[in-house]
Amino acid sequence: MTMLSLAMFASASATLMNMLRARHQPLDLIVPPVMCAIFAGLLTALVRRPQWLAYIVRIALLTSSAALVMPTWFYTAQAIWTPGLPLITTLPPISSLLLALVVMVMIFFPARQAFGVALLLWLVIAVPVLAYLFAHPDEMWTPRGTGLLMTYGPVVIMLVVLLPMLRGMTGTIERLVSDRVSMEALIHQDPLTRIHNRRVSEQLLRDCLAEQIRAGLIMFDLDRFKAINDTYGHSTGDEVLTVVAARCKELLRANECVSRWGGEEFLVVLPDADASDVRRVAERLRRAIAYAPIGPVSRVTASFGVTTTRPDDSLASVLERADRALYQSKQRGRNCVVSSPAIIDGEPTECAASLDEAG
Ligand code: GH3
Ligand code: MG
Ligand code: MG
Repeated sequence: MTMLSLAMFASASATLMNMLRARHQPLDLIVPPVMCAIFAGLLTALVRRPQWLAYIVRIALLTSSAALVMPTWFYTAQAIWTPGLPLITTLPPISSLLLALVVMVMIFFPARQAFGVALLLWLVIAVPVLAYLFAHPDEMWTPRGTGLLMTYGPVVIMLVVLLPMLRGMTGTIERLVSDRVSMEALIHQDPLTRIHNRRVSEQLLRDCLAEQIRAGLIMFDLDRFKAINDTYGHSTGDEVLTVVAARCKELLRANECVSRWGGEEFLVVLPDADASDVRRVAERLRRAIAYAPIGPVSRVTASFGVTTTRPDDSLASVLERADRALYQSKQRGRNCVVSSPAIIDGEPTECAASLDEAG
């Protein structure tokens, strides 16, 4: 839209200048206003039908090319056949428009086509003028002649060579940026379960501690997992880890984070949670894991240690508390939730009962 507006502005200016000039050629009075009307029409079409962008760009480039070809050929032919009408005085100041057109082609056309189209434009617009100038050295060695020579020669060639290089560099930068985004995603992801890895939950916990946000911590470890591996094989063990991770992730909110802490151990961080929230979520996770068989494994359970952050906690101290609670949960018979410190009266000292209730 910006380019069409600028093209409309340029052709309107050319129309005005030609009207103010004392001497002008008929073509100068026709081409700029016609182009101005075409650009205005294309701009309106683009505003109403943005989905036509590709066609509108092509029409704009095609009509602009025609607007440059017509005066070039007309005035060159006129200069050849009419003595006393040298090209350097009759040719309108359109040489810079060829440069603008080449830049547009290089931007909007696919890389392979762009070079061919730019070459074609150079052949039909620049070459006739260059050939004329070489055949008329008296005109070539005037300030206007050498200006045309430079613009239609080295400057166009520089654009055609430099712009694809620039485009290549832009493509490389875009690729690097998208590679970086996917690398960052990989750095934060556990490759087996596709949930976060410990870096993410550690960072979330660190942030909560730094900002003094009370957070809940759930550390859980699958029970007798070695036996699952030994009985059903390592790939079934992997499947169990993946399904457990997915079941837990499904139950958590967007601001809560479950990560694979390592091996068959997971860590959940719940920002803005108090002790009873954490315990409730841990219970829900415990039931979700034991809810249904996973592949050939009829029953998978996990033991949970939960705690909440304190104002004087460090990352190590809060993790150690959760770990200690998890250890107690194993000690009490597995498949249960133990809080540290104990938050409910009569928190079970034996978890064996929950083995029966979990399913
Ligand atoms: P407990 O109830 O006391 O936690 O017993 P456990 O058998 O779960 O504990 P242990 O630490 O003895 O065994 C953990 C096993 O987890 C051993 C290890 O081979 C297995 N493991 C660790 N990472 C993976 C993994 O990525 N895939 C599979 N399949 N197994 C894993
Ligand atoms: Mg285990
Ligand atoms: Mg373990």
